[in-house]
Amino acid sequence: MSWINENFLKLQESYLFSTIAKKVERFTKEHPDQKVIKLGIGDVTKPIVPACVEAMHKAVEEVGTKEGFRGYGPEQGYGFLRKAIVENDYKARGIEIEEEEVFISDGAKCDCGNIVDIFAPNNKVAITDPVYPVYLDTNIMSGREIMYLPVTAENNFVPALPKEKVDMIYLCFPNNPTGTVLSKEELKKWVDYAKENQSIILYDSAYEAFITEREIPHSIYEIEGAKEVAIEFRSYSKTAGFTGIRCAYVVVPKALKGYTKTGKKVSLNQLWNRRTCTKFNGVSYIVQRAAEAIYTKEGKKQIQESIKAYLENAKIMKDGLEEAGFTVYGGVNSPYVWLKVPNGMSSWEFFDQFLEEVNIVGTPGSGFGKQGEGYFRLTAFATKENTIEAMKRIKSKKANWKL
Ligand code: PLP
Repeated sequence: MSWINENFLKLQESYLFSTIAKKVERFTKEHPDQKVIKLGIGDVTKPIVPACVEAMHKAVEEVGTKEGFRGYGPEQGYGFLRKAIVENDYKARGIEIEEEEVFISDGAKCDCGNIVDIFAPNNKVAITDPVYPVYLDTNIMSGREIMYLPVTAENNFVPALPKEKVDMIYLCFPNNPTGTVLSKEELKKWVDYAKENQSIILYDSAYEAFITEREIPHSIYEIEGAKEVAIEFRSYSKTAGFTGIRCAYVVVPKALKGYTKTGKKVSLNQLWNRRTCTKFNGVSYIVQRAAEAIYTKEGKKQIQESIKAYLENAKIMKDGLEEAGFTVYGGVNSPYVWLKVPNGMSSWEFFDQFLEEVNIVGTPGSGFGKQGEGYFRLTAFATKENTIEAMKRIKSKKANWKL
């Protein structure tokens, strides 16, 4: 008999994106003459920048030679990329991270999902609501108790510290789906809470490259003492268009400790290293060379241009929606705009109306958690032309929403 992990049966079916696809397909069939603009996707649309393409070509040529051939690489990632990360993402911001604290992976999604391996199932986990679903589902799969931290307009999208003790805390800023950020002062409160309660913060900063306001922290390690309480996830997916290429990294500081049942302290860096060596054989050499190229002068300039273009789209959306009378959050330090659904409509009712009346696809906020009900997410990853066109349509029909 093979017994299953029954925790999987506790997962809610996720119909969000398939329901959206079906609704859009039906609409397109019924209205073949209408141009539907998709502002729902969370995937980038700009091609890989030339610096990365060149680096990949070079690496391909290299592995095709006797001298340059590479087989299995280090499970934790090649030294050249770990060094580039330490220098550029941390040292340049005044943060000391050691190369051995950086683990290269094939995605922040896998990292966020896999990290739970090194934590006991009896840890109590705090997760913001609405949320990027990976944190929630992976903890349900391993049977942990979840506490939800609402992030809504009522608390200005700043999660309140839990009244009771929690052991693991997921924070994601700039946030997906709300597009909002946390100030250094707010983030410090969480670091202090984690220190006081011997909790671990799992900090997802996959969107840090979109931060435009100077005072907003890019890394949790900008907060003093955070290396003792936080693991940080980063990704090249949105930063450099690597959603298909696949490369990310996680920082597990050596100062970070977990506890055995008997209260003995254990290095989480060592546990994560052990897990990585056992279950992972590293990211391909070619991809890691592409990631390294992001940190060259040319690479930095080129990816900045793409990010700038997405942020311009976000601004076009934010301004356009506000002009039309909507209440809008995010979109300043993020490619996501989170709008308040008007007139007490549900997120799905609004989805249908938006598709019907302005032929625009967004994502119903309720798909990201209970507290997302009454909100709607739009993304800045479409073309500028389509973004402008979408706002024109919304403004021309603004009377429809009685704003
Ligand atoms: N974290 C957040 C908050 C995300 O929104 C995403 C992707 O949408 C990821 C992580 C996943 O990143 P990756 O493509 O590196 O797996």
